[in-house]
Amino acid sequence: MQSIKSVAAEALNARMTFHSEYCHKHTYTCGSEDVVKPVRMMVLNGKVICPRCELEADERKLQKDLESQIEFSQRTKNFNMLDKRSIFRDRTIAQATFDNYKVNEPEETANKRLMLELTNHLHQGEVFNIFLQGHPGVGKSHLAYAALKALNVPPDPENPVDKGKSCLFVNLADAALAIQDSFHNKESKFTQAYVTGIMGDADYLVIDDLGAETGSEHSNSEASNFIHKILYAVTSARQHKATIYTTNLTGDKLKQMYDTKLVSRITKRSKYILFKNTFDKRDEELPF
Ligand SMILES: [Zn+2]
Repeated sequence: MQSIKSVAAEALNARMTFHSEYCHKHTYTCGSEDVVKPVRMMVLNGKVICPRCELEADERKLQKDLESQIEFSQRTKNFNMLDKRSIFRDRTIAQATFDNYKVNEPEETANKRLMLELTNHLHQGEVFNIFLQGHPGVGKSHLAYAALKALNVPPDPENPVDKGKSCLFVNLADAALAIQDSFHNKESKFTQAYVTGIMGDADYLVIDDLGAETGSEHSNSEASNFIHKILYAVTSARQHKATIYTTNLTGDKLKQMYDTKLVSRITKRSKYILFKNTFDKRDEELPF
């Protein structure tokens, strides 16, 4: 059987003949000097070409295509962050959008409208934090995730400077458990450095359920040193970025659990969305 190579060579020979002229653009290095090495031109489909020049042009094109592919995958990396790197175990949250946020109470209608409005301001480049506070199950996480989804737009493939925005949703209790697990589990990627790194890097971050991470929000205990360290690292990396917090904690509880400096960082430049009259929406689904 004839090899593919020899078939290609034959096909080339059929259409390609040597030309009497030489291309003088190509050099090789001899000692410290560049010496011109003439390359004989060829006729391909009636056109006089230099095979070396053609080859180099092909290589340049290939290199350029590869670079733009890499660049585009770098750019979509931002867009994929929300889906690929968010840390939360309640997967139903991933379905949350503004559209499927059901409103019954006037307070819910007002809060949804406010969240939409604030998300728009963030989208336009304003920087502030948002605090969603209220009883468990009123849909704070839902609105927070919906905001990230709205802010997470893919880069424009036609616009090479558009890198898109990166969004990340982190349930603080789940992240804390994952980090603690990594202390013994050397295979785990969820090291403290990794988790605080991505939380600091994301353009828009949700820290979900602040205060639930110790499992003792109803006691007066302070959050552990470990949580303080994480929140310090993250808030200092995010001084010029927007962070959305959800919490069941009241202001007083927040001050009890975290040290003053941290509380002032967390609540800096904050807009508040409070649920005072809305109670657990999930209860409605129970048949008893
Ligand atoms: Zn040439």
